[in-house]
Amino acid sequence: MGWESHFVTGVLAGYVATNSVAGAVVGGVAGLVPDIDEPNAKLGRYVPFLSKWLKHTFGHRTITHSLLFVGVVAFLLHTFVEIDTLTYGVTAGLLAHIACDMITGRVRVLYPLSTKIGIRVTRKWSKRIDEAAKWLAIGALIALVITDILA
Ligand SMILES: [Zn+2]
Repeated sequence: MGWESHFVTGVLAGYVATNSVAGAVVGGVAGLVPDIDEPNAKLGRYVPFLSKWLKHTFGHRTITHSLLFVGVVAFLLHTFVEIDTLTYGVTAGLLAHIACDMITGRVRVLYPLSTKIGIRVTRKWSKRIDEAAKWLAIGALIALVITDILA
């Protein structure tokens, strides 16, 4: 899935988890983080050494796409930063990324187990699903914000 879809679904997840604009922004950025294991991804290009090391050492869609990773990040944020909006926004953004990758391919979400979970689709369908997810997330976000403003 492309970075735009990961960002938008992360924004939506962060907003839903925190009911705040700050949480939405945090969720959007966190939605890009798992692909730090891919040197050609949006975030991976900014940290090429880390990105190449992660991909070479663990592979793509492995440790940074796992519940273990989400749990460790959430634990560290909860323990050392203690800002709920940040913790919940990041956690939601990371989970949104993993869920989105699982509807366009297989992910080692249970890393270190080698089991891959997800729906394997063709590149053509992956692009269609990517577009659909992006626009559904935008639509849902607009609906939620309008609902919150009117409430
Ligand atoms: Zn990914």
